[in-house]
Amino acid sequence: MSDTARTVFRTCPLCEATCGLELTLEGDRVTKIRGDEQDVFSSGFICPKGTTLGALHEDPDRLRKPLVKRDGKHVEVEWDEAFAAVEAGFSRLRDESGDESVGFYLGNPNVHNLAGAFFVRPLLQSIKTRNVYSASTVDQMPRHVSCGLMYGSADAIPVPDLDRTDYLLMLGANPVESNGSLCTAPDFPGRLKRLRERGGTLVVVDPRTTRTAKLADRHLAIRPGTDPHFLLAIAKVLFDEGLVDYGSVAQHLEGADAIEAAVQGFDSERVAEICGLDADDIRLLARELAGAESAAVYGRIGVHTAEFGTLTSWASDLLVILTGNFDREGGMLFPYSALSRKRREGPGRGFKAGRWQSRVRRAPEVRGELPIATIADEIETEGAGQLRGLVTIAGNPVLSAPNGERLDAAFAGLSFMVSVDPYLNETTRHADVVLPPPSVLERSHYDVAFYGISVRNIANYSAAVLATDAPSEADILSRLALIAAGQGADADPKIVQRMLVRGLIEREVGNEYSSIHGRDADEIEAEVGALPATEALLDIMLRTGPWGDGFGSDPEGLSLARLEANPHGIDLGALEPALPAVLSTASGKLEVFPEAIAQDLTRLQADFTSRSEGPANDDTRLCLVGRRTVRSNNSWMHNVETLVRGRDRCTLQIHPDDATRLGLSTGSNARITSRVGSVEAPIEITAEIRRGVVSLPHGYGHDLRGAGLSVASKTPGVNSNRLTDDQPLDVLSGNAVLNGIPVEVEAATA
Ligand code: SF4
Repeated sequence: MSDTARTVFRTCPLCEATCGLELTLEGDRVTKIRGDEQDVFSSGFICPKGTTLGALHEDPDRLRKPLVKRDGKHVEVEWDEAFAAVEAGFSRLRDESGDESVGFYLGNPNVHNLAGAFFVRPLLQSIKTRNVYSASTVDQMPRHVSCGLMYGSADAIPVPDLDRTDYLLMLGANPVESNGSLCTAPDFPGRLKRLRERGGTLVVVDPRTTRTAKLADRHLAIRPGTDPHFLLAIAKVLFDEGLVDYGSVAQHLEGADAIEAAVQGFDSERVAEICGLDADDIRLLARELAGAESAAVYGRIGVHTAEFGTLTSWASDLLVILTGNFDREGGMLFPYSALSRKRREGPGRGFKAGRWQSRVRRAPEVRGELPIATIADEIETEGAGQLRGLVTIAGNPVLSAPNGERLDAAFAGLSFMVSVDPYLNETTRHADVVLPPPSVLERSHYDVAFYGISVRNIANYSAAVLATDAPSEADILSRLALIAAGQGADADPKIVQRMLVRGLIEREVGNEYSSIHGRDADEIEAEVGALPATEALLDIMLRTGPWGDGFGSDPEGLSLARLEANPHGIDLGALEPALPAVLSTASGKLEVFPEAIAQDLTRLQADFTSRSEGPANDDTRLCLVGRRTVRSNNSWMHNVETLVRGRDRCTLQIHPDDATRLGLSTGSNARITSRVGSVEAPIEITAEIRRGVVSLPHGYGHDLRGAGLSVASKTPGVNSNRLTDDQPLDVLSGNAVLNGIPVEVEAATA
């Protein structure tokens, strides 16, 4: 290392794994990135994406200045001019069509962004629209809904006790490529290997022989869309063979008496037939789950992005509860993040959905959002409340949401659109104004969301690595909020920031359960007054959280200053049992068989009957599933040269028997056609996929004119979401159905 080089440590903000990175810099240039061996959570693990923070910062396509569309072309402008254009656009929209004519879309990177965690809400409140959409209804809302119904809060998400479990049943997840999701665990692959090294068992259920499946003791190549039937058949075996034992959670359960009758229809033999599995495997799994010293069940994208996503999420937790593995070491446990509010026993407010509906399809609101699969209807359908404007933050729904071609055309017809995004991508190319946030190295970081779903309790803060003169994301979002509130484009963003900080302090001093209850708000405000608003908010939440210093009442407790003094993070320990205090249902109990689930079970039973008798049980009718590769992260990292070089990863995987039957050969292209669209992709014949199933990765399709992604456009791939259908939804969550799409495949003519 040269004399002028410096080393900094920071958490990787790119995915849910929260790995610690060690960066070497010469001046403003990153010369090396490797895993931080002293990081308390990741211990040096890094994936190929983590090494690209410098490349992302230096990417010439990354926007440094705002863009405004003039005569159909985007041109760079100064910040004040861009905000003035936003003000003009918003006021025109409101004059023409009212507040509800503006929609809002939040992309996945927003949850990896500290400022986003605090400053999106005031913007939403100022816009006063109920047309809010996010990536959550692309792939994770079912988990939130089942947890909300069972535990009372959509954010009370139990995770497998990965480092101590003796048995892990995993469905529709491929953490060796994805590094895990809704279960934060850096070096997920290493943790799975260690599970097996200590004598534990890993069973993977997936229509593809994924890299994760290759690590497993057993792999069951299930037919897509049949996971809930499979899980409920296991539950039936547990009842039939007298293996149900609720363990220590028995005293906290509500609704347990009705479960045995509810699963009676899911007979192993019949279920095995529709799943394309062996009934003996179902029975064996039931016995193993019940007999293991400890066991956990983890389902992810493949099972949540299906027609019964919420029911499947419920059924996977149900198995853990039935086998006495819930809320115990080695089973499933609730994280207790440093930003949680302190828990207390007793009934809570419970989880509610459906407080309003979408205008056209009457889809119910869930967590204040409407399904992204319904947004094109709202834009295209004329009448009162028609969506005419859109704000997007860190999102690219044209590539990530279903029926992308329709969505692309719908966005083109909007009257006004503003995007906060570092790139002119396939979605933001429709924006009238694009406001670029600072790069990943120019902003501080704390994983607000992911330490709440983490397999250990961790706190880790990273200061910005590089300074910038550009507005912070907090300033951009605050100025947008002020414009939307009618305060004008020149209003000082500090108005919003001070209001948020002061509001949080006043809530805490007024809360009888807070560690600063009754303290002087001015005195607390003075303590954080020197910090930027984002850091002040984080500091207050840390210090009033369950591990906090209470602004002096516990000198050993957490504060931002203490995290800054510990750049490798602070390990707050293994997860611990949390019942009943973690529950916030109206009953104060764990609602093991909620009414909404009972109703949806009727729909599943009808599906079961039609699958048993109908064409869904026929492997000659192909269905499409997605897939993930370690070098990709949804749609936004294909502009990094080192990640996309090498072989084409956007291929159609197909089983050799299906390829032979259809006359397809490697080296040529296939045409894949669904109800909504058609694409061509290179054929990859592999026995690592189940017969009757084909797979395309998601996030590709960088061939649309007007996007500014010069690297991605050289290897554009095809958009798998031109095939996914925006009509079917998981009824309870409004989540899109991206897996198990019926398709026809033929040799491409060209
Ligand atoms: S696994 Fe995720 S957090 Fe870790 S280095 Fe890779 S992208 Fe970053």
